[in-house]
Amino acid sequence: MRLEKYLVQCGVASRKKIKTAIAQGRVTVNGNIEVNDATDVEWGEDIITFDGIIPEKKQLKYYIMYKIAGYITAMEDENKKTVAELLPEYIDKNSVFPVGRLDRDTEGVLLFTSDGDLSHAMAHPDRNMEKTYYVELDKEISQEDIIALEQGVILDTNYAALPGKVEYLNSKCIHLTITEGKYHQVKKMLKAVKNKVIYLKRVKFGNLTLDGMIPGEVKEIKREDIII
Ligand code: URA
Repeated sequence: MRLEKYLVQCGVASRKKIKTAIAQGRVTVNGNIEVNDATDVEWGEDIITFDGIIPEKKQLKYYIMYKIAGYITAMEDENKKTVAELLPEYIDKNSVFPVGRLDRDTEGVLLFTSDGDLSHAMAHPDRNMEKTYYVELDKEISQEDIIALEQGVILDTNYAALPGKVEYLNSKCIHLTITEGKYHQVKKMLKAVKNKVIYLKRVKFGNLTLDGMIPGEVKEIKREDIII
């Protein structure tokens, strides 16, 4: 593994500060300071020091949040309330980050982790990770609209959305499952069939659901709970 990644996983500092420390010779590998970001190291084999201290691997953390409306998906913002404010005190806000994004007015499943590899893997388009949204609509949805959504609509950005799966709940209410995560994707898909989303909740993210959770709740889960 790259030295830089090793130190990120130890949680000694931000990636930027780690790079600086390596460049400044404040990091050693088996006593050697002639190292760089890419120096190959292994857990349990090499002895690494950072500012003279041997850091230990930080345990990776995983949390599901039942996001509520009114919070942007970011860890900090100068003006707007962020999902970081919904994280309980005991969670180290410097080491976790949200995987993907929900709009300010969207509710539902949001995963937080300190595991960069998992986050990267989940976001990869080849994974086709399914996300299911409960969607309330302004106007009644027609059979033709459902067929269009299932065949793939063209968004206002000229992007051809991949086919979604629609479960009809009632004339103004559907479950829409998609594998992509373009900006405002669900809203834009419904806009493409001349409708408007009036309420949006992500009820499933991969295999993760809101089962047993109440709005605003955050619960810790294990890596094994996430199927990918
Ligand atoms: N699609 C949207 O339009 N908004 C979200 O928050 C998530 C998916």
